[in-house]
Amino acid sequence: MPTEPPAPAPAAGRRDLVGLSREELGAELASLGEPGFRAHQLWHWIYHRGVTDFERMTTLAKSLRAKLAEHYVVGRPTASKDLTSVDGTRKWLLRLADGHEIETVHIPEEDRGTLCVSSQVGCTLTCRFCHTGTQTLVRNLTAGEIVGQVMLARDALGEWPSPKDERLLSNIVLMGMGEPLYNFDAVAQAMKIVMDHEGISISRRRITLSTAGVVPLIERCGAEIGVNLAISLHAVRDELRDVLVPLNKKYPIAELLAACRAYPGLNNARRITFEYVMLRDVNDSEADARELVRLLRGIPAKVNLIPFNAWPGAPYACSTEATIERFGDIVNAAGYASPVRTPRGRDILAACGQLKSASQRARRGAAPAEPTPA
Ligand code: SAH
Repeated sequence: MPTEPPAPAPAAGRRDLVGLSREELGAELASLGEPGFRAHQLWHWIYHRGVTDFERMTTLAKSLRAKLAEHYVVGRPTASKDLTSVDGTRKWLLRLADGHEIETVHIPEEDRGTLCVSSQVGCTLTCRFCHTGTQTLVRNLTAGEIVGQVMLARDALGEWPSPKDERLLSNIVLMGMGEPLYNFDAVAQAMKIVMDHEGISISRRRITLSTAGVVPLIERCGAEIGVNLAISLHAVRDELRDVLVPLNKKYPIAELLAACRAYPGLNNARRITFEYVMLRDVNDSEADARELVRLLRGIPAKVNLIPFNAWPGAPYACSTEATIERFGDIVNAAGYASPVRTPRGRDILAACGQLKSASQRARRGAAPAEPTPA
């Protein structure tokens, strides 16, 4: 498949069209004196065909192409690192226009390919076990920077124009750096763009937003974006969750679970995923497992057990395989699917906080890939 030449660096004054809603794109064209329906054509070139060079947008009049090139770019983030793991997991370190860096990870599996997307530079939540929380600089990503991660991955995977099925990039998880519900508007706009049927067209059923539990925005997430919800629970008692996920002091477990029960569109076919990072002798007892089952009663749920990925200086260790197995059995016996998330791409992710796979599939007991020095 032909790949696009790299996009020109956005020259001063030239606005990047990636990340604009259909309405905003129409408004930009109107400002050039063009009829609104041209937005439809432009959208197709940008999001269905992945074309970044206006000159190649052959359904547009030559004069319009020139005018567009004068005022706009169809940009891409710059990949400062592009690493592929022995297991096929691929990580891009992306440098943004202001020099900040974020991560995007592609996880290929047999029946899907998942892109783990960041929503912020850094994170304000300071979860005790998460490496990103130790980063001090934080800012929200723009809708363009969020969509840009998908665009860059599609370039790299050679997936233009948008294939109907058997895609290498079929699923998206908002589980990279940042708290997506603290950047709700940009995340919502970006997801609307990637879900649009005349563009990238990834169904909301194949998108999962993971939150540490920003309770007041959970309802809006379901009502306005309609994606799957994942909750970073990690503890079953407020005293412990206050330490692991300090946001819990603001929105304790009972409130969080009440918001989950009320999540729009929730049913047995569309369950909430509860993420539970397995920390040795901290949250991994059989009593914890039983309490988890009790808390989740009545919520269509699955539980994702995540082996803790230690980072240098981390205050915790990962639970033993036998402990994770036992914990999973208790959750399973209560009727909840409890896949253990297989660590992926450890060799390329060794320096990063999101040392985990976004895979949602059951692979109980699978051996983690041997890490190699980064
Ligand atoms: N802020 C959002 C999304 C980003 S974190 C959230 O909290 O859900 C995505 C997931 O990775 C969360 O479940 C988070 O708790 C988990 N995670 C972070 N650091 C981890 C580590 N070192 N090992 C295992 N899981 C981790």
